[in-house]
Amino acid sequence: MLHTNLSVNEHGHLTLGGMDTVELAQKYSTPLYLIDENRVREKMKTYIDAMGKYFPLGSMPLFASKSLCFKKIYTVASEMGMGIDLVSPGELYTARAAGFDLANAYFHGNNKTDADIELAINSGLGYFVADNREELDAINRIAGEKGIKQKILMRLTPGIDPHTHAAITTGKVDSKFGTAIETGQAIELVKYVLTLENIELEGFHCHIGSQCFEIKPFCDAADIMIMFMALVRDELGKATTTLNIGGGFGVRYTEDDPHIDIEKSIELIAEHIEKTCVRFEYTLPRVLMEPGRSIVADAGVTLYTAGSTKTITGYKSYVSIDGGMTDNPRYALYQSKYTILNASYADKEADFTATIGGRCCESGDLIAEDVKIKKPKRGDTLAVLVTGAYNYSMASNYNRIPRPALVMIKDGVDTLAVRRETYEDLIRNDL
Ligand SMILES: *Cc1c(COP(=O)(O)O)cnc(C)c1O
Repeated sequence: MLHTNLSVNEHGHLTLGGMDTVELAQKYSTPLYLIDENRVREKMKTYIDAMGKYFPLGSMPLFASKSLCFKKIYTVASEMGMGIDLVSPGELYTARAAGFDLANAYFHGNNKTDADIELAINSGLGYFVADNREELDAINRIAGEKGIKQKILMRLTPGIDPHTHAAITTGKVDSKFGTAIETGQAIELVKYVLTLENIELEGFHCHIGSQCFEIKPFCDAADIMIMFMALVRDELGKATTTLNIGGGFGVRYTEDDPHIDIEKSIELIAEHIEKTCVRFEYTLPRVLMEPGRSIVADAGVTLYTAGSTKTITGYKSYVSIDGGMTDNPRYALYQSKYTILNASYADKEADFTATIGGRCCESGDLIAEDVKIKKPKRGDTLAVLVTGAYNYSMASNYNRIPRPALVMIKDGVDTLAVRRETYEDLIRNDL
């Protein structure tokens, strides 16, 4: 199987974390998100241990909330000793409601409103990752009103293009995020930040993109960032101590994708950073990383119930499912590839080529095209693998379709973590 937490049991059913997915589909109904909690914990531990081992004291991984956000994930992150990154006041509110200590939270985003900044400071946020000058002024003003000195990192664009999909590439100079180093604007902005009384500049952040399998773009980005930190020290007399190199490790969605060895990659990045720091005579900064996808993606499976199987003579075959772009918009957005199987007959050969279509009134509502699957009949459970990241968090109510439930599974026990939306939920705010 694609990942070690997937298998097939004696009934020929797909299992996730040892549990029968067909039984879970019957118990909770479909569409249904499953998250293998042990897998999430294992991945968090891999990052925490490797970063603790290879980077200086104070280094830590921050779970990228945007990949999967609901209360229980913050409980898990907190228990494991992960920090978090947040990109919206809604994520912050969710983490706070889960009792997460926001001293270990980093608030991102390219347009934080005054209300967002107030909410964050009132909630005891540890750090803002500041994007632009107007925002820095607002943070400085609001921190002043509250009588605090607010710690921040500044988001910079190192000018790296890691050659992943354009929509998920963010480290280039031409980006809506952060401030460019190459154009000289970053050093000017740092000079300005150092005049702001209620802000403590602790370091810098960059995020080069997502779904990267190579470490070279991370090393290249770190070089540019450290070079910049040395410039800030030499020209402005400020030695900052934190370098956040963002998220982005790739995930195996299909058999064609490689596996990434997280620990080894961190070791190699750490070695590289050490060398660069020696070269610039820079005291090794603490390093932060922001993994999202590589923590939760392969912990997730989405279950659907098959509807019709339709073959258009001379063209192709469509299998329709009871979910689609509303619970997984990634194919419609990026043509992301997925592995799909008939979970009811996971022991049978995939004998049928089909395009998997959702139930929205939208031709682009597909989950995969021309994939091999054991031919389903109405009522079979279909499973889309590796859906833990950017599926639930990107779900919508398009066509007034209620969002699915999310069930966590751990050591043979299934626990409802997010209940299924009801029709009543859909009209809750309608007046
Ligand atoms: C999206 C994002 C991440 C997480 O990226 P993954 O590919 O899910 O690891 C981390 N940091 C920032 C700033 C992001 O925008």
